[in-house]
Amino acid sequence: MVIDPYVLNGNMIFWIKEDNSTTIRVEDKSWNHKIYVASDKSLLKSVIETDEIFSMVKEYHFLSKYELITDMKRSQVLELELKDSSYSLKIAEKIEKMGRFGQFRLYNVDILPEQSYFYEHNIFPLMKCKVHVSNSKLNWIRKEDNVWSTEYELPLFNNIHLKVYPKIKEGKIPRFTDSIASVAIQNYDRIEDTIYIQGSEIDILYQLVKEIEKINPDFILTEDGDSFTFPYLTHRSESNKVDLILDRESIPLCRPKKDGISYFSYGKIHFKPLTAKLFGRIHIDTDNSFVLNESGLQGLYELARICRLPLHTASRASIGKCMSSLQFYNAMINDILIPWKPTLAEHPKSLGDLLIADRGGLIFEPVMGVYEKVAELDFVSLYPNIMFKKNISAETVICNCCPHSKLRVPELLNYYRCEKRRGIVPISLEILLKKRAIYKDKRNSTTDPKLKKIYDARQTALKWVLVTSFGYLGFNNAKFGRIDAHIAVCAFDRQILLQTARIAESHGFKILHAIVDSIWIQKKDLTNNDYSDLKTEIENKTGFPISFEGVYKWIVFVPSKNNAMLPVSNRYFGVFEDGTVKMRGIEARRHDTAEFFSNVQQGILDIMSEANSIKEVKDLVPKIRNIFQMHLELLKYKKVPINDLVLTKRISKNVDEYENRNTVELDALLQLKNAGKSLKAGQILKYVITDYYRKNSRKRSVPFELVNSKTVYDAKRYSELLAETCNSVTEPFGLKLKVKE
Ligand SMILES: [Zn+2]
Repeated sequence: MVIDPYVLNGNMIFWIKEDNSTTIRVEDKSWNHKIYVASDKSLLKSVIETDEIFSMVKEYHFLSKYELITDMKRSQVLELELKDSSYSLKIAEKIEKMGRFGQFRLYNVDILPEQSYFYEHNIFPLMKCKVHVSNSKLNWIRKEDNVWSTEYELPLFNNIHLKVYPKIKEGKIPRFTDSIASVAIQNYDRIEDTIYIQGSEIDILYQLVKEIEKINPDFILTEDGDSFTFPYLTHRSESNKVDLILDRESIPLCRPKKDGISYFSYGKIHFKPLTAKLFGRIHIDTDNSFVLNESGLQGLYELARICRLPLHTASRASIGKCMSSLQFYNAMINDILIPWKPTLAEHPKSLGDLLIADRGGLIFEPVMGVYEKVAELDFVSLYPNIMFKKNISAETVICNCCPHSKLRVPELLNYYRCEKRRGIVPISLEILLKKRAIYKDKRNSTTDPKLKKIYDARQTALKWVLVTSFGYLGFNNAKFGRIDAHIAVCAFDRQILLQTARIAESHGFKILHAIVDSIWIQKKDLTNNDYSDLKTEIENKTGFPISFEGVYKWIVFVPSKNNAMLPVSNRYFGVFEDGTVKMRGIEARRHDTAEFFSNVQQGILDIMSEANSIKEVKDLVPKIRNIFQMHLELLKYKKVPINDLVLTKRISKNVDEYENRNTVELDALLQLKNAGKSLKAGQILKYVITDYYRKNSRKRSVPFELVNSKTVYDAKRYSELLAETCNSVTEPFGLKLKVKE
């Protein structure tokens, strides 16, 4: 089973886990990454005649490929097989500079060599297969395993959790100059099996190398390996002049050549630290892995297999990157090139189409307030299902081949869909949609709790890729994205929701709210089969599966915080008939809420969940007041653990770029900076408020890293915030809680 592929000294290396659990290294010296160049024939010739470029090329060919996904015909392109797979970017930049802007079009440049190897050989991580090694050439003989399999077996991996403790005083930020106090190596599956390494720093380093060699782990998990643990260990080993070998190649850890980066995605700024790669082992940084946090190792395995991404990359990948890898594979096997710098232009639009296109997915705005006996129905993966069933992709909406297509797009006069070919997006979505449905079935029908957990983790991982597949379609950096495809999906969505609303009305229901893929309805004098009849008719008429979420005893559509007149469509909370609380967009659900507030709000909701009607909720007011008072007292007498009061904020600028000098966040940022830690845009700031109302002070707050046993929180400010959080759920029922002076 392939566990870790990478390029080293120009060659592809694979670490393979054998049936008997031993790990072996094989090398493919015959293969190299290929990039493609398109331009006039004479210019292409000049490329290979340039010595500087030719010296990096092993072989070249003129081939016919589809340059753009929208192309109807293949064109002649120059294929350059590189001498070293890591030359890709260097050679592409040189070629680009040879001509005027746009004269050379370059393809497959920023695809990882590991990825293109996987695509070309039709293999994938954790695939069970046989491989023949001869003359440093690998011949992959596929066995029964393939990406569609839902019953694959994995070997017993040897996984450890690594933690390094620097020698620092309480309330100080660790620096690279602090020496190591101790190291803990924990067995990932048996937590009680932990090895502690202590002693002089040089002994610790030597012993760490020895222990890792002895344990020979496949996976090393850390909490901050990319941003701290490994860069720190590197510094410590350099100052002690110790070769710190933790990988399987016997290459000592060394300093990366550049810094991490801030980048903008889906309306948010993020920070990506450099990654610490251990050749032959998989290093997973749990702080830098969305996939792992949402779906665990089982979800990560599934994504790496299905998207053909190395585990190291998959664990750090944004979900968009997983989706794109799946698309690249489908493009490559269809002879379509992957543009280095995507340039699919928008189709020109009429004013009418523009106005309609701007509507997005909102149909019925909710009327704010509290309601009883409301049913919710949700379409299952609606956007991906629309793209899949309606064949929506960059190259199939307003395609070049069928200008008279009968397949139209609702409302949009000038939009049509291809009649001749399947798009790359629907082709890629098929495996995600179908496998997820199978995993959900398996999860629901198995009685084995261990298997149930595995199936659920895998379907969750696939769900995340599906959820973001739509945003990715309109994302301007996506290689195969196009805003017209995005607009077409929204148009179908509105049509389906409108149709659904009409069907519900014809069944005597009143529509309270409908957005994107959910609808909330109400009916007096219900009879037994009303909901199942409705569900059946919606599915038959729209052609899309819908699930009946349940009936709320009561539900609240919450007004927006900024403007009480404007409801915000994704803010609501309510209680189903079985007592389950469901909430969206309110504090207890949000990741930036301090633990203390989430817990109190959740506690109030739990009490409210016993009420069967709006009146019964109102009867609980004395009980809710008591809870509120009790927590106010806790705050007042400083009984709340400071860890529960940590507020978090993703910062939007580097610390030096802030101008407003009077916020609690900036106070914390500056203190951190003085202590030696300058946060960059996209990183998360954690802080505690200490003296909110002393506006001229620089000590209104303290960053979490500098909190110590003497830190005292600002009880007054936290009391006000507590009241705000409680009021979000009590005010709709007429209860406004206040902090008494
Ligand atoms: Zn067509």
